[in-house]
Amino acid sequence: MKIPSVKGFRDVLPGESARWAALEGRARDVFAAYNFHEIRLPIVERTELFRRSIGETTDIVEKEMYTFTDRDGTSLTLRPEGTASAVRAYVESALYQSETVSKLFYFGPMFRRERPQRGRLRQFYQIGVEVFGRDDAAADAEVLTLLYDLLHAFGIDGAEVQVNSLGCRDCRPAYRAALVEWGRKHLSALCEDCRRRLDQNPLRLLDCKNPSCIALRDSAPRMSEYWCDACRAHHGRVLELLRAVGLEPHQQPYMVRGLDYYCRTAFEVLASGLGAQNAVGGGGRYDGLVRDLGGPDVAGVGFALGVERLAMLLGESPTVTASPEFIVLPIGERAEAVAATLARRWRLSGARIELEPSGKSLKSQMRRADKLGGRYALILGDDELAADALSVRDLEARCDYPRAVRLEAPLAELRATLDEIKLTSAERHA
Ligand code: AMP
Repeated sequence: MKIPSVKGFRDVLPGESARWAALEGRARDVFAAYNFHEIRLPIVERTELFRRSIGETTDIVEKEMYTFTDRDGTSLTLRPEGTASAVRAYVESALYQSETVSKLFYFGPMFRRERPQRGRLRQFYQIGVEVFGRDDAAADAEVLTLLYDLLHAFGIDGAEVQVNSLGCRDCRPAYRAALVEWGRKHLSALCEDCRRRLDQNPLRLLDCKNPSCIALRDSAPRMSEYWCDACRAHHGRVLELLRAVGLEPHQQPYMVRGLDYYCRTAFEVLASGLGAQNAVGGGGRYDGLVRDLGGPDVAGVGFALGVERLAMLLGESPTVTASPEFIVLPIGERAEAVAATLARRWRLSGARIELEPSGKSLKSQMRRADKLGGRYALILGDDELAADALSVRDLEARCDYPRAVRLEAPLAELRATLDEIKLTSAERHA
């Protein structure tokens, strides 16, 4: 009986995984240019970490976490996002003692028990960055600039970056109160979830996907009317610095985020062509979170992009699995051991080589060699062993070169011979 994968969990097969690796490679180049360093974080954390950081009344904590009790009774959770873990690691290893500013990036799977649909999985991958130790607007602007450059490096230029400021601990309470008051006035028009959320987490009303709540939203009070002077100045400076480098994000006065820890700058990347799940990424500032999780009062700002959604935006480019540089075809048992020695020598020098089993007929081996997409087959049978030289077939030009390469040949000599063969094949065809 076949055992299927778990709903919302999927495989990334070769071809797709090669595209992902290419994305990751481009991201690494951009991160290096911005002088960010990689952090690798565990997948499992204590449940309390997410409860305290993401917020008790968020969808993630209320209903989407994969939580289980370990054998010793500890409640553990598969991480639903990366920031909480990054903060935990930052505090636990006291990175703030060795550097005043830490600029980190990560790649990895996250887990949320959402209803699976196109672009929404229960295990999905994120590329994320976090900056610790900078509370100035220039840090927000740099993180946003990095975000734009990352999207550009991926070849995504049509995405829209929306920004807002969610205010701070000083000015948000008044806004929250105004929102609750407004919500109470419109109680009958709100969806059931929002009615329930009204007292616990009123900001989430602005984020509701229910059509009646969306219709109502434009009459809600705006955070910008409640910003304190410091928040207003901070936000203004972020926009000013972005304009200075030629970037103009879209200001969205009702944008909030699904996690409670954000303050001041919050942003989201939206793209058309993704259907209902149109967010590719999001992030913002989370001053206070490091302190809330037992560290010093160190500011933070960061974002995460969803890899599946980035890949969807880039579309199904033709399969990019690499072909072997050449294929070694041994005929017979004696040849098999010699072929393995040769293949190993050339592999250690850096060539991508497919080594075929020896038991098949040359004809069926050739068929497979053709399918693999390499240009040259190197044939080793009794004749070749006797002559101490491999025969070469140029699979593209369909030309044979008996006993053309010494068995002792190092990779450079082999490649030089194959280059000559390529030229000769071309002449033969001309
Ligand atoms: P968040 O951590 O909620 O701000 O999400 C950041 C990004 O991660 C989103 O914009 C999506 O691209 C991606 N993401 C979040 N949840 C999922 C999911 N369930 N499936 C696929 N991608 C997701």
